[in-house]
Amino acid sequence: TKQTVIITGASSGLGLATAKVLADSGKWHVIMACRDFLKAERAAKSVGMPKDGYTVMHCDLSSLNSVRQFVENFRRSGRALDVLVCNAAVYLPTAKEPRYTADGFELSVGTNHLGHFLLANLLLEDIQHKQNDNERRVIIVGSITGNTNTVAGNVPPKANLGDLRGLAGGLDGVRSSVMIDGGDFDGAKAYKDSKVCNMLTMQEMHRRYHEKTGIVFASLYPGCIATTGLFREHYQLFRTLFPPFQKYITKGYVSEEESGKRLAQVVSDPSLNKSGVYWSWNNQSNSFENELSQEASDAEKARKLWDVSEKLLGLA
Ligand code: NDP
Repeated sequence: TKQTVIITGASSGLGLATAKVLADSGKWHVIMACRDFLKAERAAKSVGMPKDGYTVMHCDLSSLNSVRQFVENFRRSGRALDVLVCNAAVYLPTAKEPRYTADGFELSVGTNHLGHFLLANLLLEDIQHKQNDNERRVIIVGSITGNTNTVAGNVPPKANLGDLRGLAGGLDGVRSSVMIDGGDFDGAKAYKDSKVCNMLTMQEMHRRYHEKTGIVFASLYPGCIATTGLFREHYQLFRTLFPPFQKYITKGYVSEEESGKRLAQVVSDPSLNKSGVYWSWNNQSNSFENELSQEASDAEKARKLWDVSEKLLGLA
């Protein structure tokens, strides 16, 4: 029987490309956890995914109710979960005003971090109690932009979670700041902060659960996939110039297809089975264990982020 992988945000870009690689292999059944059911179905058809290789299930990460509903629906499907991929993200670099999730959190951190934090915590139970002995993995897509030890991570505004006072207050813009560090709204920074949270969450999960459960926890930077929908909110001029800039100047560009192969490796390659690793690829497309920035590997901050997030989501 096939192994089961859940991929959030599989309706476009990296998530879709990964879903296709895994479904085409014939070894995986992909649960496409998407906010737009029709779009996801159309996307799967348009890239030619085999019909018996996937199921679309509704999941809007910007609503905690929807995340809980998704987990219920998945459980009702009766499938044993092998791998969870937290991939979906929003990026609002040009927003002048914050937007909010259904539960009143600033949208980027609310979706990219809090939605996935809840989903991963709920599904951990399903992955732990699985009957077969296939390898089990939880993967959270990170990014270079949150890593201030890189050139890309040093383009302002830089990621910085500070002492997490805004997050602790609920990121609601009324009682607390909408930014994790308590500062003024900045959409580009909110995205980078959310990616630092993703990388910290992966490491904290590794520390809490790897030894106990054998589950492999990993994060990755798939390369700069300059053509995806992630940049849909950016200025048109940026969207025109960014892909050639990444292709010819920084040489960090990867196609959606190549990025999908990379994430699919982290899902299924037996040699990428080390837990607590942040994977990257060199120019020859070989994977290696990359280093995270000081903030993104700060164990004390990871623990604090975990506690604050648990409290906000009512998990503690
Ligand atoms: P896309 O915009 O193409 O894909 C993002 C996906 O997330 C879409 O399927 C989108 O759904 C989904 N999504 C957004 N909001 C929600 C929500 N509330 N609930 C459920 N799904 C949602 O971007 P990418 O493929 O580039 O991004 C995928 C991941 O890769 C992200 O985590 C991003 O941070 C990361 N990444 C991307 C890089 C790049 O260069 N592009 C570089 C490094 C990391 P819909 O189709 O309905 O809009």
